[in-house]
Amino acid sequence: MPGVRRRNFGGNLKIQAAAAYTPTGEQDVLRILDLHSGDRIRTIGWLHSSSEAAVTDGVLLDLKRLDQVEVCGDGDDTVAVVGAGCRIERLLGELDRQAACTLASLGLITEQTIAGAISTGTHGSGCSSMSHFVEAVRLARYDPASGKAFIEEITEGAELMAARCSLGSMGVILAVRIRCRANYNIEEHFAEYRRLSDVLSAESSFPRQQFYLIPWRWSYFAQHRREDARPRSPVAWLYRLYCLLAIDVALHLMVLFFVRVLRSRRLIRFAFRRLVSSFIIRNWKVSDRSASMLVMKHELFRHIEIELFVRRERLADALQYSQEVIELAGGGRSALSSDNRSRLEELRMQDALAELRGRYCHHYPICVRRVACDDTLISMAAGEGADWYSLSFISYARLGNRDGFFLFADLMAASMSRLFGARPHWGKICPLDAAQLESLYPRFADFRAICKRLDPAGVFRNRWTAALLDGEEGASET
Ligand SMILES: Cc1cc2nc3c(=O)[nH]c(=O)nc-3n(C[C@H](O)[C@H](O)[C@H](O)COP(=O)(O)OP(=O)(O)OC[C@H]3O[C@@H](n4cnc5c(N)ncnc54)[C@H](O)[C@@H]3O)c2cc1C
Repeated sequence: MPGVRRRNFGGNLKIQAAAAYTPTGEQDVLRILDLHSGDRIRTIGWLHSSSEAAVTDGVLLDLKRLDQVEVCGDGDDTVAVVGAGCRIERLLGELDRQAACTLASLGLITEQTIAGAISTGTHGSGCSSMSHFVEAVRLARYDPASGKAFIEEITEGAELMAARCSLGSMGVILAVRIRCRANYNIEEHFAEYRRLSDVLSAESSFPRQQFYLIPWRWSYFAQHRREDARPRSPVAWLYRLYCLLAIDVALHLMVLFFVRVLRSRRLIRFAFRRLVSSFIIRNWKVSDRSASMLVMKHELFRHIEIELFVRRERLADALQYSQEVIELAGGGRSALSSDNRSRLEELRMQDALAELRGRYCHHYPICVRRVACDDTLISMAAGEGADWYSLSFISYARLGNRDGFFLFADLMAASMSRLFGARPHWGKICPLDAAQLESLYPRFADFRAICKRLDPAGVFRNRWTAALLDGEEGASET
């Protein structure tokens, strides 16, 4: 099939592949791989990543036709074998229909494919990321001896830990076997707090909660969530309607109006100080199915995001630092606190900070989610020990007006990785270079060794993952 041009969700990347295929099944994937032996191959999901994870100028495979779902076992012992191109939305529907079960972990949206979601460590709040629950990965790659494409199943050890989050660089994922759990309900309500410590101490009562630091108001809106054995609330449908109309649509339209039409820093600051909170109904407690409660329609309006993961002990400091940088960038203060100023001086980043000053007015609640450790090599929550917290910074600026956001994202990633060991999400804006990224993951060398063993010729690497996996040598390749 001739080449195609595609754009990702965020609109920041154009993909111009030399050839593109939508295989009909596993044997078709093998046929295409044999046809393109020696060429660079990249498999895409729904192109919701805004890092370069899915970019290619080689051969592009879209596995959307491999979307079967087979469920076995029952209750919390259920596992599902899922075709790589199956979207999460369809998977949830099938799990419910076939076995009254669901996924243990969910991101904010259900647009992604299962293979795409696990390949960048997609996560929600209050448990490990989706990758953690993967029990086996069915992979197509080349046999180094014969050069022929073949299929293998990865079921254990470090190879499974690598395959659970592999940035598309171990081969073509054909299917995954993922642990599921019986359907369950989540009770949710919103509350506003002035102090982070109050939000965090509520975690013991609401282990699935996430919270938002509202810029320019500088208060916290906690979305308190816990599992609930009671049936769905009778008004769950009304709550869903409220979330859709008031939050997913009206609140976002207001943000778009201030950011894209009015474009006034003063008015954006005013909107976040005074107006945003009026969209949130406090203390309305509602229980609903987890698959409805844990997600939102965040895909309705194009945006771009950087998300940084820090350990719990760095969270308060990281949020205070973020607030100061945002205030300085958006014209709300003239200098950082003396502690943070000296930190940036030590990192020699004063110039980057000076360049950002007055250039970017942050205009979206900073979502903070707790992610338990993953049994993986390089997902953002990989490793053992204290939980991770992800801080997300989203911009709704128009495509041509994102320079300020990129300056902000560069500074935040570069400084927070060094100050707080912050790891950027692999599927979102990821401005660190290979050496910086590698230094954040103790088991990165193991991941690299496994990728090289499974794909010695590097045909499943794109320019970005080649730079990560091959160092300088990869960075110069196309
Ligand atoms: C609106 C929106 C909301 C989001 N919400 C969240 C969230 O709540 N939590 C979170 O963690 N992330 C979130 N994300 C990020 C998103 O989950 C990830 O970027 C995810 O990787 C996208 O999946 P995809 O199917 O679009 O894959 P793509 O973006 O197309 O690809 C991602 C990676 O997977 C690889 N890949 C895909 N399919 C295969 C395959 N079959 N074999 C081998 N490699 C493959 C690609 O090569 C690429 O490296 C969100 C993104 C958007 C746009």
